[in-house]
Amino acid sequence: MSQEWAQRYGGALMNTFGPPQRVLVRGEGPYVWDADGRRYLDLLGGIAVNALGHAHPAVVAAVTEQLGTLGHVSNFFATPAQITLAEKLLGIVTPGGAPDGSRVFLANSGTEANEAAFKMARRHGGPDRPRVLALAGAFHGRTMGALALTHKAAYREPFAPLPGGVEFVPFGDVAALEAAMGDDVAALFLEPIQGEAGVRPLPAGYLTRARELTTAAGALLVLDEIQSGMGRTGTWMAHHLPWGEGVVPDVVTLAKGLGAGFPIGATVALGEHAATLLGPGQHGTTFGGNPLAAAAALAVIGVLEDGLLEHVTAVGTWLKEKLGGLGHAGVGEVRGEGLLLAVDLADPVAKEVCAALLDAGFIVNPVREDALRLAPPLILTQEQAQTFVDALPTALAVVGAEGRR
Ligand SMILES: *Cc1c(COP(=O)(O)O)cnc(C)c1O
Repeated sequence: MSQEWAQRYGGALMNTFGPPQRVLVRGEGPYVWDADGRRYLDLLGGIAVNALGHAHPAVVAAVTEQLGTLGHVSNFFATPAQITLAEKLLGIVTPGGAPDGSRVFLANSGTEANEAAFKMARRHGGPDRPRVLALAGAFHGRTMGALALTHKAAYREPFAPLPGGVEFVPFGDVAALEAAMGDDVAALFLEPIQGEAGVRPLPAGYLTRARELTTAAGALLVLDEIQSGMGRTGTWMAHHLPWGEGVVPDVVTLAKGLGAGFPIGATVALGEHAATLLGPGQHGTTFGGNPLAAAAALAVIGVLEDGLLEHVTAVGTWLKEKLGGLGHAGVGEVRGEGLLLAVDLADPVAKEVCAALLDAGFIVNPVREDALRLAPPLILTQEQAQTFVDALPTALAVVGAEGRR
């Protein structure tokens, strides 16, 4: 079954992702099943998307109800779901409540959320502020604007020329940021935890200094919480963790876990000038703010509010300790917060280890040649996580990755 589907995939789909590892037909909770009936524990969660696992009753009910009531309207009109969601998001991104004037733009994906933030930066800066700063290792998306902010040359260079003015500063280097910052900078884009670069949190103190520098220069501080936000780290936003030191950014971008599988993105602009960053006619989207997506996101927020953040902290802390405490020579540092974790390997065999784990019924991701990424559903239980802890040494043994090379 799977093999036949895989062949048809190759004959019909653009080859942007390489061959699919499995063809999946069903999901329930943290598990998915392939076309041959095999079950997998989904520890990647659709890349930090399936926050509530698969087929969560609250999301299914909310989307079904909304689709049976009002599925889509153009942005010439508004819906209660869209308005309620925007109000909720304003409350979530700033623990003390969003400052007056804060506003939300709703889109359909992460890259679109960052496109809107990029346009806000251009509007904020005007011709006097042509420069936009991002970090080495940054991943902000694949559309042309977000791609310009993405560091990996192999992603960017085939599509040059990209929107100009973007400069990359070394990761976590305060002195380099101080040197690069100036009154010709429109915005600084940061991921509190770089996901695609291997689950790499900003060093302590960096965010605070970045806030001071952007404030002094009059530049926007944009936090890309697309992967790290919406409860992933056990707090609503990763920058709410203690090392965020209470920093309030100017713009926060969200997507991935926000709709728990229903495509949605959001650009949340904070503060008195937020409302004026983009005015009538300066940006738009047909689907953004769609009531189905808004209903899905509201359902996700409802479940998160119901004690799930505490659960993420508990299970995430436990899992990190267990993996770190394996005492396996093939396993190095375990990084990350909550349920966004990376496991460093002693050898560059992450792909092989992931393949062995897949064969054993576990979906994880080789985020780097020598690191595994875990971004499981936030509903993952300790017992389910334990099965992975037990399976990892076996998978390392299968590929001979026992740290002795
Ligand atoms: C995934 C991701 C994006 C892009 O989101 P898409 O929905 O794939 O466009 C942007 N920034 C970060 C930090 C991400 O992890």
